Amino acid sequence: MSSKPAILIVEDEPGIADTLQYALRTDGFEPLWVATGEAALAKLREASPALVILDVGLPDLNGFEVFKRLRAFSDVPVVFLTARADEIDRVVGLELGADDYVAKPFSPRELVARIRTILRRAARAPTAGAAPPSPFAIDEGRRQIRFYGRPLELSRYEYGLLKTLVEHPGHVFSRDTLLDKVWDTHSESLDRTVDAHVKTLRAKLKTVAPALEPIRTHRGSGYALAEDLPAALP
Ligand code: CA
Repeated sequence: MSSKPAILIVEDEPGIADTLQYALRTDGFEPLWVATGEAALAKLREASPALVILDVGLPDLNGFEVFKRLRAFSDVPVVFLTARADEIDRVVGLELGADDYVAKPFSPRELVARIRTILRRAARAPTAGAAPPSPFAIDEGRRQIRFYGRPLELSRYEYGLLKTLVEHPGHVFSRDTLLDKVWDTHSESLDRTVDAHVKTLRAKLKTVAPALEPIRTHRGSGYALAEDLPAALP
């Protein structure tokens, strides 16, 4: 298996596809080439290229349609190849959310440089499923949460609260939402129930990391887990 990043070229003109394949290969990429929109979608379902170069003018589906369909199942970065001004307008409006576009005729070197930029950007951006390292580790089986490796002794509601916050770092939960998610009956549901549990939770977290404030209060709106916690204890 090759470790070179694969780039899928979707282009019906063999001359352009050849030029692109050559430029990409020279620059250390592994080009894959298909000539139609349907072939592109089929290819994307079996291979996971690092990026797609997508011609707008294809013989079957146009590039915009291909883009819309591939977005239904893939987040792969896409660079459009456009030949006409009206196509450029449409891509630039980026009603589509493409990553970039290149107008024909184009310089293969410039295109490859842009591809490198996009791939660097994509590598930095957090992607779904690849969360940054967290000081929290949830053990659902034991209903236990570790904080910097130390197991916390939590009541049932403290566990539910912290689990909810930890699973969505940075997301501000209102007291109502927390009551709904964590408390199964509303008989004891009062905003200050949440506040009281957050208070005891904070005290327990302080015993592990006195200098940190992992649970942030958002005045008037609720609570969120801090996103800037160090990976190791300070
Ligand atoms: Ca074309």
